[in-house]
Amino acid sequence: MGTIFYRDTRGLDEMPRTFTDTVVQGIAPGGGLYVPERLPSLSLDDIVSLAGLSYSKRAARIYSLFGVDVHPERVEHLMELAYGGNFDHSQVAPVVEVRAGMHVLELWHGPTSAFKDMALQCMPLFFSEAISMRLAAGERLDDYLVLVATSGDTGKAALEGFTDRDHTRIAVFYPADGVSDIQRRQMITQRGGNVAVFGVRGNFDDCQNAVKAAFADEAFASELHERHGLRLSSANSINWGRLLPQIVYYVSAYADMVSAGGVIAGHEMDVSVPTGNFGNILAGYYARRMGVPIGRLLCASNENNVLTDFIATGVYDISSRAFVTTPSPSMDILISSNLERLLFELTQDAVVVRGWMADLARDGRFQIDRTTFAAMREVFLGDWVSNAESLDVIERVWTTEGYLLDPHTAVAWEIAERMGGDNPVLVVSTAHWAKFGADVYKALARLPYADPLPPEADALSGVELLARVAGMTVGASPVPGPLAELDGLTERFPGVVDAGRDGVEDAVRGWLAR
Ligand SMILES: *Cc1c(COP(=O)(O)O)cnc(C)c1O
Repeated sequence: MGTIFYRDTRGLDEMPRTFTDTVVQGIAPGGGLYVPERLPSLSLDDIVSLAGLSYSKRAARIYSLFGVDVHPERVEHLMELAYGGNFDHSQVAPVVEVRAGMHVLELWHGPTSAFKDMALQCMPLFFSEAISMRLAAGERLDDYLVLVATSGDTGKAALEGFTDRDHTRIAVFYPADGVSDIQRRQMITQRGGNVAVFGVRGNFDDCQNAVKAAFADEAFASELHERHGLRLSSANSINWGRLLPQIVYYVSAYADMVSAGGVIAGHEMDVSVPTGNFGNILAGYYARRMGVPIGRLLCASNENNVLTDFIATGVYDISSRAFVTTPSPSMDILISSNLERLLFELTQDAVVVRGWMADLARDGRFQIDRTTFAAMREVFLGDWVSNAESLDVIERVWTTEGYLLDPHTAVAWEIAERMGGDNPVLVVSTAHWAKFGADVYKALARLPYADPLPPEADALSGVELLARVAGMTVGASPVPGPLAELDGLTERFPGVVDAGRDGVEDAVRGWLAR
């Protein structure tokens, strides 16, 4: 076994990095992403025997195979904290057979009801552990201020993950005009002593640009360092510390599929993943490389279908692509950052990857070579689902199967039905339906996606609307407690700030001065 070190996809970081190095560092100097220098391999026995273990023990087992540089007993302890009573299902990430051959991996039993919890209940623990380890070794270190721009799911999951963690503070910025009532209330009612949340006037682009500008401002970085002993960090989905926990649930799901008779041990399952930044499906790819019998990985997109085109043609082109609004906003992405890791794994050539990424930055476009394209096509298939069809799928699957999908999972379900072959399919479910209650309501009421809610539904609060949907879908998974209780919580962070760098920086200054 032994420690697995990490190198970067652009070959610019000379140092071999450990797991905790990658967690604290996030992105490599030069803009590359950290990848393991080798992958552990799992025998069929290793995989199937996980079925007898709790989820936290499964996770600790996989982490130990990756030789993470944290004491094994400590890893077990952190995993119990990450995957315990904070999840509302004893199996944490259960597999449900919805009909013969179609299984759903439910990744939304965590505190914020979206799959981001699978990584963000875990990674912040390793983040503060990494800093504690370095302090204990006598290094002088700053604490970290995690700045997040969110279109909804990531912000709340990051807040829950970093709340009251040692050596960290977190400030989340969301677009005042761009999140649902439920998502806004989830964030502005956040508990914890090291957190702050701000609305930004404008849409997600305005919000993200403002936060990016604050990151790029060196004077702001020195001010934070000198006045407050803080360094900036982003903790976003390109951090390897968010990827490793996602590998765990693919291994775990195969073990559960076998023990439930959904697949014969050693036979393949296909996996359909609702994809945005390519992090979730990439974890499935790593699990496959490690020996999990996965046949095809189905890359499911919404109307922002740049990945569908890339998998079909080998050309990644956003040079003339407009961003489309969809009922699956967490997949509304033009640049799928984690794709860079796949390109490195397929080519093992940092110089080539660096060239493609430079093409993308300069021309909004790059084209992979034939060999890499063929290697990708052996594993990945891609397709996309329109806005109208996404809502149709929710209604159809509810009516025929009695299972209620959220709009992201609906995209993956449709692609699984369209493209699945003879293997049983695992549809990866990334959000509880109640996180996107308004669109689920439209689906069930057969209202067009582009229409506003009818006045009597529009008059309801987000939580009241969820109760309405729950009444229409008796037998479906009920509204999770933390969402049902939102109307009763105090709004701790009602503030909205101006867009632009100064708006973000002044908000942070004001908060730290308190
Ligand atoms: C983040 C998210 C996705 C996309 O996952 P990637 O790892 O970015 O591909 C899909 N569905 C939901 C609900 C999400 O929150």
